[in-house]
Amino acid sequence: MPVKQATFFVSNSDPAKCPAPDRPEYAFIGRSNVGKSSLINMLTGRSGLAKISGKPGKTQLINHFIIDNEWYLVDLPGYGYAKVSKTEREKFAALINGYLTSRPNLVCTFVLVDSRIDPQKLDLDFMENLGDRNIPFVIAFTKTEKLGPQKLQTQLENYRATLLETWEEVPQIFVTSAITAAGREEILAFIRPLNKE
Ligand code: GDP
Repeated sequence: MPVKQATFFVSNSDPAKCPAPDRPEYAFIGRSNVGKSSLINMLTGRSGLAKISGKPGKTQLINHFIIDNEWYLVDLPGYGYAKVSKTEREKFAALINGYLTSRPNLVCTFVLVDSRIDPQKLDLDFMENLGDRNIPFVIAFTKTEKLGPQKLQTQLENYRATLLETWEEVPQIFVTSAITAAGREEILAFIRPLNKE
């Protein structure tokens, strides 16, 4: 079932100022330009909900949206933009870790990775960080319509094999495309039953 209502709630740069944890929430994060805004817009069926960034790494804000009055969708800032200073990177790490460790209602984090690119240390390190903090996560493969089915399969297998070098189990990987809306039903179905528990 498509999203009926998606409303911007609040943006902030201080995890302590996030909304009261009164609804389950699902966070979305990934390297700048991975397609996070496009995926959020595709999932919610609102083309302008999350901004599609011309300037990666610009916004360092935590954005909360309320979906169908039931759950929070949290748009976290993109990481890994090469042109930021060490101080900026440290600020980012403090913001993200502050957020991740202060939300008792955070059910699951979607880590977005570009399906066309081989596993990157930055993303794998981020997943390690989530693991160290016992924060459940799944992976969303983005821009998959750019790959043929065979290449997509190879990329998926390669990603799983890389994860298995450090993880005992591989998290769920959603195959998505903001262009074809692939993955929308699957992600919403994943979120909704978890929501009702
Ligand atoms: P963000 O920085 O992670 O929020 O990424 P954006 O959503 O702004 O997307 C970055 C670029 O990738 C933009 O030029 C998008 O049009 C493009 N993009 C995002 N999702 C897709 C997708 O599913 N398929 C294709 N082909 N391009 C995409």
